[in-house]
Amino acid sequence: MSHLVLESLEKSFNGRKIIHGVSLAVERGELMCFLGPSGCGKTTILNMIAGFHSVDGGEIRLAGRSIGSLPPHKRNMGMVFQNYALFPHLTVYENIAFGLRLRRQPKAVIEEEVRKVLQLTRLTGYERHYPRQLSGGQQQRVAMARALVIRPDVLLLDEPFSNLDAKLRQEMREEVFEIQRAVGITTIFVTHDQEEAMAISDRIAVIHQGVVEQLGPPRVIYERPASEFVATFIGEVNAINGRCSGRVEHGRVRVETVTGQVFIGMCDSSIDSGVDVVLYVRPERMQIHTPGTSLDSTRQSLPGRIERVTFLGARSRYGVRTELGWFTVETVERQTGLTVGEEAVVSWHPDQAFVVRRRSQLEP
Ligand code: ATP
Repeated sequence: MSHLVLESLEKSFNGRKIIHGVSLAVERGELMCFLGPSGCGKTTILNMIAGFHSVDGGEIRLAGRSIGSLPPHKRNMGMVFQNYALFPHLTVYENIAFGLRLRRQPKAVIEEEVRKVLQLTRLTGYERHYPRQLSGGQQQRVAMARALVIRPDVLLLDEPFSNLDAKLRQEMREEVFEIQRAVGITTIFVTHDQEEAMAISDRIAVIHQGVVEQLGPPRVIYERPASEFVATFIGEVNAINGRCSGRVEHGRVRVETVTGQVFIGMCDSSIDSGVDVVLYVRPERMQIHTPGTSLDSTRQSLPGRIERVTFLGARSRYGVRTELGWFTVETVERQTGLTVGEEAVVSWHPDQAFVVRRRSQLEP
């Protein structure tokens, strides 16, 4: 049985529907990210799970028990907020002990439990400090410790690192990942940062306008996006518009462009001939060649002219104008010998191209 189940969750504010039937299941010990742009409803779903928002429709089950009508303190969930929400007038020790005191735990239990989470979050020695005497990263660790000390069934983290600079953010996400693995706690992590979601998730729920667009492991989300939104929101893509002109073997479809060229790409959903589609290839899955280079017969290619070259140290990026639009190619080769103004050929393997229905076909 899944640990936490959301079934057809609905939520409106002031008559405007924000969450449109969200269903998903989080496994015991799993770290799931809710990833999506600002305003897509991530926090609203989290708040419904925590009990801070009522549920208009649908059900929330924890270990098989419906919890949708329980008040927050009866759900046994630990929550970490973006702004830490620490009590400024309490020491680190008292901030962490707070939840245990509310639960009227004996002094000896409180001391033991706080000691353990202080160690887990590497805060031993900071017991007597006040939040204002701590760095942002340390304050966030206190918030983690405070959430974990009550031994919650589920840990909910809402954009916990958005107030930290890039380097600290990366360190903190590794720390949270390690703590989550050490404790083995079922965790939902809300973020709009795709790299963060990729780095720590077992699975990612990509949320767009109050619906789950795709749910899957990071690699699947990246390599096989199920929709135009997921493809363009996560990572960078080159796009070729066309029309499906039939299915070929091994889960591939044929895509015919306005110029009459035919490309082949991977497609997981069923798309009929005649449907408008987009074929995507990521910049790092493309290669760039001098015209006339003999290519493996399985590769697909397009001629163009190089209009931009950017040296990035370990990689180089080429901007290439073709008759089907602008392509970005990212390569680790230091020297292709190609420069701005030259003719070039971009190529890719059909297995590196993925095809989705064009959004205009989905919306009325
Ligand atoms: P962000 O990353 O910006 O917080 P989000 O994906 O978490 O975005 P939500 O905070 O869930 O998005 O908000 C989704 C929508 O619901 C927004 O349009 C927001 O204005 C609206 N909303 C959220 N909470 C309320 C509320 N209490 N009353 C009215 N509207 C709300």
